[in-house]
Amino acid sequence: MSCWTGQYKDVQLLDNEFIIFSGPCSLESQQQVETQLSELNTNFVRAGIYKLRTEASSFQGLRSDGIELIKNLKKKYSFQFVSEVVSDSSAEALSKVVDYFQVGTRNMYNYELLKTLNSYNKPVILKRGFSATIKEWISAANYIDDAENRVILCERGVRSFEGSYRNMLDLNAVAYLKAHTNFKVIVDPSHGTGRKELILPLAKASLAVGADGIMIEAHPSPKDALSDKEQALNHQELKNIIDEMKILSPLFGKKVVY
Ligand code: PEP
Ligand code: MN
Repeated sequence: MSCWTGQYKDVQLLDNEFIIFSGPCSLESQQQVETQLSELNTNFVRAGIYKLRTEASSFQGLRSDGIELIKNLKKKYSFQFVSEVVSDSSAEALSKVVDYFQVGTRNMYNYELLKTLNSYNKPVILKRGFSATIKEWISAANYIDDAENRVILCERGVRSFEGSYRNMLDLNAVAYLKAHTNFKVIVDPSHGTGRKELILPLAKASLAVGADGIMIEAHPSPKDALSDKEQALNHQELKNIIDEMKILSPLFGKKVVY
């Protein structure tokens, strides 16, 4: 088994680091990201440019306008950017602006899309399909060349019988993957719970269970978000989480990067 070297191309993720990716569900404007960069000084920004929505009438993302917007922002600011790839053509467009590709829960089983990503030398954040077994998830990851060095698995909750929250965040999976594989594993408590008040406790639990990081949705004005407004934190709430994780991470031998 090969071992994660802590570095893939320009991207580093060290064993003693706990990485926090944060940003809006959907990219909506340049100002939205600038506000985050200036208020929180974040280096690892997520934002969906191509959105896979349950309803065809819902906001589908800024698409090519969003690519231009990130190009402009990258001329002005230094940050690493993550966005979800949904098709071959979006992979090509996104390859100009992302440091990491994200594959969403709906596309974990899209093996042709996963193979397409082998044409680009970039790390891939692979979300768990909402009904995928761990074995299926790892098999999907192995469609990416050099998978254990290049794929970061992201637990984002699975569908369950429980209706009190959006998904059931499977932290067993994180402990299992850390015990039995060399993959880096992060957790998305935003989609994993769908509830703002559950994000901090599940972020703490993710650190405790051995995750290498988390991904959190935040928006300068959550009530106005064009997608996933129920689970979006405002920037002060995101800052509180970052601060809490900074306090706790040394207990687990880690340092927060965000
Ligand atoms: C997202 O991260 O914006 C997203 C759509 O997540 P998921 O694929 O986990 O639903
Ligand atoms: Mn979302």
